[in-house]
Amino acid sequence: MQTENNEKIENNERFADEYDVVVIGSGLAGMTAANILGRGGHKVLLLERHYKLGGLATWFRRGGGEHIFDVSLHGFPVGMIKSCRRYWNKEIADRIVQLPAIKFDNPQFSLTTTFNREDFTRLLVEKFGIAEETVKAFFDEARNQTHYDDQTTTTRELFDKFFPGRPDVVRLLMEPITYANGSTLEDPAITYGIVFSNFMSKGVFTFQGGTDLFIKMMRDELVKNGVDIATNAPVEKILVEDGKVVGVRVAAEPLTVESAEIGGRPKNKSTLAGKTIRARAVLSNGNLKGTIFDLVGREYFDADFIADAEATRLNNSSAQVYIALKKGETLDEEKCGDLLFTSVAPEFRADWLLSRNITSRTYSFYYPKTRPGTDRYYVVASSNANYDDWANLSPEEYEASKQDLIETTLDALDKYVPGIRDKVAYVEAATPKTFKDYTDHWGGASFGTKYEGLAVSRALASKVGGLFHAGSVGIIMSGWLGAVNYGVIAANDVDGFLVAGAEN
Ligand SMILES: Cc1cc2nc3c(=O)[nH]c(=O)nc-3n(C[C@H](O)[C@H](O)[C@H](O)COP(=O)(O)OP(=O)(O)OC[C@H]3O[C@@H](n4cnc5c(N)ncnc54)[C@H](O)[C@@H]3O)c2cc1C
Repeated sequence: MQTENNEKIENNERFADEYDVVVIGSGLAGMTAANILGRGGHKVLLLERHYKLGGLATWFRRGGGEHIFDVSLHGFPVGMIKSCRRYWNKEIADRIVQLPAIKFDNPQFSLTTTFNREDFTRLLVEKFGIAEETVKAFFDEARNQTHYDDQTTTTRELFDKFFPGRPDVVRLLMEPITYANGSTLEDPAITYGIVFSNFMSKGVFTFQGGTDLFIKMMRDELVKNGVDIATNAPVEKILVEDGKVVGVRVAAEPLTVESAEIGGRPKNKSTLAGKTIRARAVLSNGNLKGTIFDLVGREYFDADFIADAEATRLNNSSAQVYIALKKGETLDEEKCGDLLFTSVAPEFRADWLLSRNITSRTYSFYYPKTRPGTDRYYVVASSNANYDDWANLSPEEYEASKQDLIETTLDALDKYVPGIRDKVAYVEAATPKTFKDYTDHWGGASFGTKYEGLAVSRALASKVGGLFHAGSVGIIMSGWLGAVNYGVIAANDVDGFLVAGAEN
């Protein structure tokens, strides 16, 4: 197997012509599904269009390897520990640690929290003057939402019921979730309840060692479990005959990404380039709409299903600025915390969070403890963003807009890291176009589709025999934990299908 520097990972000299299951895409859902299926004794091939595994769970190096940036390692729920222990291994789970200081700074309030139910209760009672019974009733109802199947109550209605006329409270309880997955006050309260119960009740966690180590440990586990892996292997078609998948065709050329952002362009072809690989089942970890319309083709589905797939909305995209501090420069941990939600907007509004005129930024501060053994400090500033604000710019306008993103971010960061411009060793920006290029998610969606995508994703197997999907759909099945958990669910479906097929 070669490493990321050689831009190609293949752990097999000779791939088979036929597999039990081909997994398309090595995002966290794809890798988790491949791992479970490999561990369960199935013959699995994992194909990734990029030269690296991980999908959006990625990182990149700059300055000849001196700097390393994490793209989506900002925080995930405690459930990751259990999921990683069960479906990966103890070593991975043991590296998951809590981020102790989550901060907010906006015109309505500034505070630090450990981001769990007790601390939110303390803050709401002491700082926001809400009666303790009301807080308790709200938390209970938010949690109970997960037991109802009510898609009619919106998150706005849930907040209005408990905190009428309190936009500051709504901001505290909603802004991190909107950041985390683009959900809005108009989404069903059940989706808020689930994310709230997973995320905001027990703190925010990270992986000590960085995304590079996390994905390397997963890759090692996949190899141990007998999964064949090929990167630089974009699948161009899922092949269907008589209503059943029969395999996939790998493109003759590696993907043609436009930009060198984040990871850069693969240079080597896969051994599998241009080949057809037969399989009894295919599990796509690619974008749900891309899977249906590009990889399979609308002609293989009934009209109602196509209508549902077309109506499925995409989640928003992101913009990021990656900042490396010069050697010897440090961050004030007391002042910055681990994750800092900032905004200069007078109140919380989901559309303001998405606007190209950025008023809200979340900073992730990375200290040497994030990667034991290093002495460097990094900041990643993230904002929600609309693909359309970036997609149609001329190359000159695009570069200018990126530069503007960098400059305005450094200006904003100066409040928390005074003199930041003198401390910067390296800075770079990523836009919705970057995320589109990197993963082929329609619209550069950072969190796949809105919640209605889940039903479409789950229905795939009943439309085309042996066709499965796992990966960012809805609010629950995206993010690091959601993706891992959806990989588990899909792997169980595939296993059931393969076992049933073997018995017949
Ligand atoms: C800027 C940003 C910040 C984020 N921050 C956080 C965070 O702090 N916490 C959190 O929990 N989540 C975060 N997320 C979201 C999280 O990273 C994703 O939800 C999760 O990693 C998605 O996993 P996935 O399995 O759906 O697949 P993806 O990561 O979307 O990967 C899909 C993979 O499939 C591959 N693929 C697609 N089509 C093909 C094809 N035809 N052939 C071969 N391969 C193909 C792609 O190249 C990619 O590798 C963030 C996302 C972004 C963009």
